[in-house]
Amino acid sequence: MLTDKISHDKVEAVKNLIARSGKIVIICHMTPDGDAMGSSLALYDLLKRKGKNVFVVTPDMPPRNLMFLPGAQSVVVGSRYPDKAHNLLLSADLIVCLDFNSLHRVDRLSPFVSGSSAKKILIDHHLEPENFVDVLISCPEKSSTCALLYELLGLMGMSEEMSREAAECIYTGMMTDTGNFSYNSNDPQLYLIIAELLKKSIDKDSIYNKAWNTNSSGRLRLCGYALYCKMQLVPEHKMALIALSRDELNEFDYVKGDTEGLVNKPLSIPGIEYSVFLREDEPDYVKVSMRSLGDFPVNKICSDHFGGGGHLNAAGGEFHGSIASAMGLVMSVLPDYDEYLNNNNIE
Ligand code: 5GP
Ligand code: MN
Repeated sequence: MLTDKISHDKVEAVKNLIARSGKIVIICHMTPDGDAMGSSLALYDLLKRKGKNVFVVTPDMPPRNLMFLPGAQSVVVGSRYPDKAHNLLLSADLIVCLDFNSLHRVDRLSPFVSGSSAKKILIDHHLEPENFVDVLISCPEKSSTCALLYELLGLMGMSEEMSREAAECIYTGMMTDTGNFSYNSNDPQLYLIIAELLKKSIDKDSIYNKAWNTNSSGRLRLCGYALYCKMQLVPEHKMALIALSRDELNEFDYVKGDTEGLVNKPLSIPGIEYSVFLREDEPDYVKVSMRSLGDFPVNKICSDHFGGGGHLNAAGGEFHGSIASAMGLVMSVLPDYDEYLNNNNIE
């Protein structure tokens, strides 16, 4: 029960902060995914309908496949409009932080969040949240911030008034953070929430098709190329590695979001227990993504070597240097994690 995790006092504190704040800014993590965008836009829709002066700020551009979400066009993108984003954060009465556990996840907007005199609320499901806020609502056992937010709104007595648009946003985050209910998805509560969202007339099949079944030709070709030409299997360490350089990304007209889901693909090969994806986002800057099965802790590799972290089975980090050096580092540290493979329980 969520009431065991979130005290009545916290629920009241969130309600009171919303009630007494004139200007509210909602912010989510950089490279926003379905859960970050979904939770932000669901809350945005609810607060706007309550007549609040509310804004959503994202550190960088949301991916194309999430632009169908109601309200996505009104998001203030910090990398495009830095002055506007800074001013909104600094002049807010309340900042609601959604789907991240550490201030550095909002990238260059971090000093404007910490430096703002606004009251702050964090609602999140990542492990070990930093406490930089006035009200911290952290539930790592929830599979998405959207599911957590929905339940919190229920405790606040606000789920009845939720519109179909907000329900679409909530469903999107629940769906994308569980791989369309294929992992972290055995909690019966999830399906009770989905039933309530369906009663608000969402079309879940259409949301799936818009969020996940819509590709550019470049994206499809890039994924095909990555799997056919670039996937390396290291069976002795039960690992798969895909690395894409800037030149390769450019050749396929890469835009943010095009490689979403690619890192999961090698996990479908029997005998592969973890998968590493390296993407050279800028010269000498490599974004690292890892996924695993069972008990293999990819968040440990990411925190040990790539200045990152995340969940046991889904983690990320970064590397400053060439894509070849990043690959070299991955290959050199693999043997250190064999002990986890030996103990791995995969059902
Ligand atoms: P993705 O591979 O989809 O970018 O990220 C998967 C998960 O890893 C995210 O939900 C987040 O928890 C974590 N993560 C990704 N990148 C970073 C990072 O740079 N730092 C930290 N601390 N966590 C990250
Ligand atoms: Mn999330």
